[in-house]
Amino acid sequence: MIPKYCPYCGDQKLEELEPTEVAIDNMIWTIYHYECQFCGELFDRIIPEGELEWDSITPDDLDALIDDDDKPKGYPH
Ligand SMILES: [Zn+2]
Repeated sequence: MIPKYCPYCGDQKLEELEPTEVAIDNMIWTIYHYECQFCGELFDRIIPEGELEWDSITPDDLDALIDDDDKPKGYPH
């Protein structure tokens, strides 16, 4: 779900930029932006709400994620 390496060069030095929340058809899609620190390519990961793997996450946690300007918290690792 979360990319661990750059799709362009395969390097693992990725910087996660501030994610964007987009509402489509009553679903919240989260667009994660990554910048490869090796080759400088930017790429996105779009994760629909239904595919969230955070089984233990609560709506309050989601609010905290959305409101927080810092890096999102609650990743499995
Ligand atoms: Zn790269």
